[in-house]
Amino acid sequence: MAQSCFFPTGTAAAVLTAEPIDRLLDYLAPEGGCTVGDFVHIPLGPRKVIGVVWAPATGEYDQGKLRRMICRLDLPPLGPDFCAFLERSADYTLTPLSQMLRLATRAPGLLDGPAQQRILRPTGQIPERMTAARQKVLDVYAEFGDLPFTPSELAQQAGVTPSVIKGLIEQRALIEEHAPRDTPFMPLDPNLPSKDLTDAQLQAADRLRAAVSAGQYHTTLLRGITGSGKTEVYLEAVAECLRAGRQALVLLPEIALTSSFITRVEERFGARPAEWHSGVTATQRRRVWKMVGEGGAQLVVGARSALFLPFQDLGLIVVDEEHDHSYKQEDGVRYHARDMAVLRAALSQAQVVLVSATPSLETWVNAQNGKYSRVDLLDRFGAAVLPQMGAIDMRTQDLPSTRWISDELAQQIRSTMVRGEQALLFLNRRGFAPVTLCRACGHQLACPHCDARLVEHKFSKRLMCHQCGVTQPLTDTCPACQVTGKLAPIGPGIERIAAEAEALFPDARLKILSSDLFSSARRLRAAIEDIAAGDCDIIIGTQLVAKGHNFPRLSLVGVVDADLGLRGTDLRAAERCFQLIRQVSGRAGRADTPGRAILQTYQPEHPVIRAILSGDEEAFWAAEAEDRRAAVMPPFGRLIALILTGPNLDAAMKYGTALAARSDPLHRAGAQVFGPVPAPIARVRDQFRVRLLIKADKSVPVQSLVRCWLAAIPAPRNVRVVIDVDPQSFL
Ligand code: ADP
Ligand code: ZN
Repeated sequence: MAQSCFFPTGTAAAVLTAEPIDRLLDYLAPEGGCTVGDFVHIPLGPRKVIGVVWAPATGEYDQGKLRRMICRLDLPPLGPDFCAFLERSADYTLTPLSQMLRLATRAPGLLDGPAQQRILRPTGQIPERMTAARQKVLDVYAEFGDLPFTPSELAQQAGVTPSVIKGLIEQRALIEEHAPRDTPFMPLDPNLPSKDLTDAQLQAADRLRAAVSAGQYHTTLLRGITGSGKTEVYLEAVAECLRAGRQALVLLPEIALTSSFITRVEERFGARPAEWHSGVTATQRRRVWKMVGEGGAQLVVGARSALFLPFQDLGLIVVDEEHDHSYKQEDGVRYHARDMAVLRAALSQAQVVLVSATPSLETWVNAQNGKYSRVDLLDRFGAAVLPQMGAIDMRTQDLPSTRWISDELAQQIRSTMVRGEQALLFLNRRGFAPVTLCRACGHQLACPHCDARLVEHKFSKRLMCHQCGVTQPLTDTCPACQVTGKLAPIGPGIERIAAEAEALFPDARLKILSSDLFSSARRLRAAIEDIAAGDCDIIIGTQLVAKGHNFPRLSLVGVVDADLGLRGTDLRAAERCFQLIRQVSGRAGRADTPGRAILQTYQPEHPVIRAILSGDEEAFWAAEAEDRRAAVMPPFGRLIALILTGPNLDAAMKYGTALAARSDPLHRAGAQVFGPVPAPIARVRDQFRVRLLIKADKSVPVQSLVRCWLAAIPAPRNVRVVIDVDPQSFL
């Protein structure tokens, strides 16, 4: 796009909208003219929609009939680096640009005028009765001067209840005023003292600080075991970025966004950062969006979509737990936030810090070949040491088929509890039992809408499909043969392990952490904080517990079925199994309690299990990288998946066959096309799914080949094409 090109009133310019129209539209500039990047209001058919002035007029429309833009909107304009990011990420993910703009304008009420909100100011009058709490409130003003606070912000900042604020209003020490909402966030002070960093931490922080102050694009992998102080170290990179007057973004997997993390930021910088995730209210979202664009938010802590906030001057992106699979968005625009963070930073001359205890193979390879720098933190902070790893060979345990916790593991749990410490039982499977089998006819309960089994959930007393979420009441009668009393649960889910643990340890306080048991992210976070506070003896969790929580009293991790992740045929099965178990094991022994992690396995000699036990991570990654290189698989080759979906399997297969039949241009350019084949889960929500996979060397411009290929062979009306670049899921 053209740089800061001005269009005087009445001249033509091209506008991008977030409507589902895959091209730019020409309009005449409104009163006062407009500039590339400006938000404008435009007529579209009978409607008025929001758009962004994108480029000089395309000239593809009858210039005599162009309509005039209604007005420029009072929103911060998009910078050229951000517009370039939207274009490049659209090209990379093969997504229409309009959809990228929709991602970037997903704050509610952007068109609302500058509405008012209630704020409080001190009058200078001393309340008749001064209490410690009241003094705290007045101290906030002494500290922050004239900044406007809403009543709830003030209560939070002062750490008092709303009734204290009310009392001060009644005493006329505070006066209510109406002021524009969407006010800037409290300034952060990068020069407040950090913790006393250890030598290793200091060295790591120095390298990151130097990188940030260079003011250019670069990516660094910050690797270190859980508890080594990675967060402390990257907060120093944030400090350096703030000192340089640029904005910083810290991305976390949604679930790791606990208030304890926000508190740490607050302790380091004296004020809370802007937050962007599913738990943030609509008003706050709008405020964050606007302030990011105006420079009134220095630091955003958010989930993956925060990457599409219109930062004015982004200097640093930290991707914490960079290997986490939730960074890949699997519906709508399919993008990987880690990869897009690197693109975004490259276009904005910003730094990227990828943080992990168990990096993704992609990142490890990039660090290995020098594309990224790598900083390692080897030791845990303080007395804490890495958990001791051990395995229980389940072939020797002789457990009945309805039990999964071996006597040996049970014994370990018991002694952990005796010491007043916490134990964690990890099984990455929700529900009570994955299969319900009729012992009369052999039927397995299945979802009526998907090619998937129904999973019994005892707590919610429902059968649930993990593909589409449909639920049914529990039943005692087989729907196939109508025999009653013969349905039997087969295999364990997390709830069944909980039942077993309850029977084994009747006096223990159990907590189950599984995503389906919490109605909101907020509730889940509360439960996590209770556990951290010590309000539980045995935690039973799915992969939810693998992510950056700090459970200081946890000293034993038992992996109920270490072989579970190895069974898939997924390209990343080994990598994922390795990361997940290392990650979960790392939960043990954070503070000053030494930890122990025990894997229950039927194949202790499996290379992945051996690598986990030996802790020789570099060897594991090197071997894994070699396998992928030999197979020209990511990160050495590129994959693009096409998923054809529709109500009719034949139609999807037929279209897939037509695509495959005309894939010569791809083959000639060096790409391979596999399929079409029905997906492993061929039906979800009554929609059939057919997959094609395109595989190519990194040097092949595979995106543009795929774009031309699909454009030449339009899909029939009843088939929808989903394009997944760098697919993570092959189901
Ligand atoms: P990681 O991000 O690698 O898991 P953290 O940065 O969360 O590690 O550090 C683990 C714990 O140790 C945290 O509670 C942190 O505050 C504490 N910690 C780490 N380094 C220091 C330090 N130099 N001084 C004081 N506390 C530290
Ligand atoms: Zn279903």
